[in-house]
Amino acid sequence: MANLNDNIQYLKGVGEKRALLFKKLGTQTIGALLRFYPRSYENWSDITPIAEARGMGNVCIKATVTTPVKENFIRKNMVLYKFTVADNSSSMLVTIFNNKYDAAKIHMGEEFLFFGKLSTDSFYAEMSSPKIKPTKAAGIRPIYPSVSGLSSTAIENQVKIALSSVFLEEFLPQKIIEENGLCSFEFALRNIHFPVSEEALNQARKRLVFEELFLLQTSLLLLKNINRGRTPCILNRDYTDEFIKMLPFSLTNAQRRSIKDCVSDMSANRPMNRLVQGDVGSGKTAVCAAVSYSAAKNGFQVAVMVPTEILAEQHFATFKRFFENTGISCDLLTGRLTKKQKELATQRLLSGETDIVIGTHALLSDNVEFKNLGLVVTDEQHRFGVEQRANLTAKGEHPHVLVMSATPIPRTLALIIYGDLDVSIIDEYPKGRMPIESYSVSSKLRPRVYNYIKKHIAEGRQGYIVCPLVEENDSDLIPAEEYYESLKENEFKGYRLGLIHGKMKAKDKDSVMREFSLGNIDLLIATTVIEVGIDVPNAAILVVENAERFGLSQLHQLRGRIGRGGYKSTCIFISDGGQVAKKRLDIMCSTNDGFKIADEDLKLRGPGDFLGNRQHGLPELHIADFVLDIEVLRSAGVQAKKLLAEDYSLQMPENQAFKKEIKNLLSSMKNN
Ligand code: ADP
Ligand code: MG
Repeated sequence: MANLNDNIQYLKGVGEKRALLFKKLGTQTIGALLRFYPRSYENWSDITPIAEARGMGNVCIKATVTTPVKENFIRKNMVLYKFTVADNSSSMLVTIFNNKYDAAKIHMGEEFLFFGKLSTDSFYAEMSSPKIKPTKAAGIRPIYPSVSGLSSTAIENQVKIALSSVFLEEFLPQKIIEENGLCSFEFALRNIHFPVSEEALNQARKRLVFEELFLLQTSLLLLKNINRGRTPCILNRDYTDEFIKMLPFSLTNAQRRSIKDCVSDMSANRPMNRLVQGDVGSGKTAVCAAVSYSAAKNGFQVAVMVPTEILAEQHFATFKRFFENTGISCDLLTGRLTKKQKELATQRLLSGETDIVIGTHALLSDNVEFKNLGLVVTDEQHRFGVEQRANLTAKGEHPHVLVMSATPIPRTLALIIYGDLDVSIIDEYPKGRMPIESYSVSSKLRPRVYNYIKKHIAEGRQGYIVCPLVEENDSDLIPAEEYYESLKENEFKGYRLGLIHGKMKAKDKDSVMREFSLGNIDLLIATTVIEVGIDVPNAAILVVENAERFGLSQLHQLRGRIGRGGYKSTCIFISDGGQVAKKRLDIMCSTNDGFKIADEDLKLRGPGDFLGNRQHGLPELHIADFVLDIEVLRSAGVQAKKLLAEDYSLQMPENQAFKKEIKNLLSSMKNN
């Protein structure tokens, strides 16, 4: 007997060449192959009479051959085979195109199964190029997503061999199986590939969906448990009022509420685990600063981790401004510091000289240590993996955790990624915001768009034009650099243009961004590097080229770069995409609600694309669907919590097999 973790080459029929193809599918082990579920099924048991088959799409017809096979030579090496078949209801013509192998099987008087579509444009019933099988092949057959060189049938055969060479041991705790009325692991795997009936297929699917979501939720809960227990970082005094007095504006009620939630969490001996969700521009930075201030004043160090260098630098500048003359010392730690600078920053953290450090992933580095880390904040944090968050937290002794998200994570995903976090929502914008007007136009209108930008610039405003990243072989796209040069020479000659893209050196990006925020650049040509959090209140117009190339949530984030001052702002999406693109952009133009946009985006693109495969740190789902299986997701979450409440670190003997599966999943998340 083979093992699920064995390499697929262990199986009969898989040589080196085949193994490479399977590798492309991501199925290098027998276990992975068995988890490679069919994309759909063909039901060869559900027989449709010929007389009723027209207009029904793909059907399976069981009929007897009533004429000899006639060969028509169309031209050299091209043969059309024709014959007639009949069932009790009617008869139909079958044509086979150039398939000698299929044609040779056909004999008058014999009965076969024909799977295909009846043509609707001929007067008589006709099926061309159906799949043909002997009647004993009836059943529900799997269809797999194939790669070139590896057909669905080839995968099917290999799965069949795999199923017969392994022992499929149950790993879900017996109690869970009983409470949820699930079928066994073995039954599920056999029937998801080769269902004996529709009912069996439903059973199999139910079990595998539950299992997948249950494993995922339990794993995430275990990761979060790392930061359970008591915390010594208790705030004795709330310094929020003192902070508010120093602010140049008054906080919105929603901001105040969020700050209060956080401070009250941090005043208890259980570590805070809170998510502050607020749409772009809702003022999360001020909330973060207020909470950090109270923590620092109580003698604790604060680490704020953000996803990009530009953002780190901007937050750092904002914090320095807020905390001028307060005795609170802020520091910056990013990958672009020189070795010497990093050493100094690290020393200051270790000695406790630094109260608040703002940084990028560089904060995760092993040699970054704190004297007294009391609060960890991650901003725009859905870009950080679960592990990364846990790593930063581990640098303190049960520090408080504040996660800030620029909303557009659909509720369904938030449930998974944030699971047991407490949530505060900033559902109110700072006063004086003018709503952003959005339009979607075709590239024909580009000259008018340019004039419109010029009008804004004449009024003293600034603007952005965003171009998609340049992918190789995508010649129809406008590379930001070329586009910039051309505008500078032509349409925007005499204007102060800037260019910023991800391939530039951090130092250069920084200086462009600085010039832009100082108002020394009128129009910034950019890629999505400006997507995350950059804040220039005077920017009032944003144009997106090839808008169909972006995800809706990404567009929403981009749009959040404007409308931050008291000016009327305009967002224009330029796109020559088709119907689907048009529909998506229409959604963008009809609402500014980040939640709504995120939900639409998820529906249109699926969760993988939504978060960007590598960004969310979650494993790929094989069968469950975050949208369709939301109810199962909920109940799996509840049961995962219950299981861990009974067996905190899965020590009980009946949970050992399950624990092993969890370990596998966690290690795959690490490699993600
Ligand atoms: P986000 O939630 O997207 O991170 P920011 O924290 O960057 O938003 O805030 C957006 C802008 O609004 C900043 O320029 C900030 O100074 C300003 N701001 C934040 N809170 C208020 C407020 N209560 N009143 C006025 N302006 C505010
Ligand atoms: Mg922000």
